[in-house]
Amino acid sequence: MATQCGVCNVYSNKLSYYTYWEESVCREHASDGTLRCYTCHRFKKAQDPEYLDLNDNGRKLCSYCSSIATLDPKECMPLIQNVREFYRSLNLVVDETIPFLLVDKDMMLKFIPACAGKDTIGTIWYKDSSLRACTTIKKCSTSEGIIKVEKNTERLTRRCNLLTMRRKSSVRALIILFGTPGVCIGETMAHEMMHAWFYLQGCRGKLERSVEEGICRLMGYMWMEWFCSGGVDSFYKTSVQVQYTKDLKDYIAHWMELSQDKSYGQGFRDAIKAVSKFGFNYTVDYIVKNKCLPCEI
Ligand SMILES: [Zn+2]
Ligand SMILES: [Zn+2]
Ligand SMILES: [Zn+2]
Repeated sequence: MATQCGVCNVYSNKLSYYTYWEESVCREHASDGTLRCYTCHRFKKAQDPEYLDLNDNGRKLCSYCSSIATLDPKECMPLIQNVREFYRSLNLVVDETIPFLLVDKDMMLKFIPACAGKDTIGTIWYKDSSLRACTTIKKCSTSEGIIKVEKNTERLTRRCNLLTMRRKSSVRALIILFGTPGVCIGETMAHEMMHAWFYLQGCRGKLERSVEEGICRLMGYMWMEWFCSGGVDSFYKTSVQVQYTKDLKDYIAHWMELSQDKSYGQGFRDAIKAVSKFGFNYTVDYIVKNKCLPCEI
């Protein structure tokens, strides 16, 4: 029986069905430039409200994701606190003077090596990086569906500022892509903070990528669970926003669990196995000492 494509409304019996959001669309829409939400990947249907244009390399958010987007750096403060609290609950100490900086896609691409994925949403600014300045999002708001962004360039100066202050660690700042829902921003923060933790333990460049990314991804995953089982209730004004945050968290978790990537997928599944067998602290301490996951996972 022919079903109707949600994007172009034609009837066909050859539609692709995307189970997660229960979407039936023509196969071509996956590659013909049909608009998809940057975060939840839902196709823009004919009857959907306009997607929010972040004016950032074509990134747009559907009305669900934009209703819970954390746009302004000030709105990130409770998330930063929440992620730090989560780390404390696991007895992981990360220098809390290391700032989080929100950036746009162009700036993000300057930080990451050409070989890394273009979809990178978080990274670390090391002290030995050749980058001497970073353009950050200073203010961001929306009005009637139009986004307004103010940027600011942070330069490394001799004068003491947050970026140049004396810090023992080799981490200058944690860099996060702006313009996504709070649950994604917090997940990225939790992930990047774990990279920072490994570096602060002297593991930089010493761990296999799949081991490090596996644990970092697990931290993001665990933080999302923690946030959605408590903090989120006070983070949003309406129960609809809270519920959608939980739905989006389930989607992101599902997408992480099924990833075929060697590091972010298999590495993550190996990290879950190790942590469920040996416990979290034992596993990360073992990695720091032996530069690999506990054996026989
Ligand atoms: Zn179609
Ligand atoms: Zn969306
Ligand atoms: Zn990572």
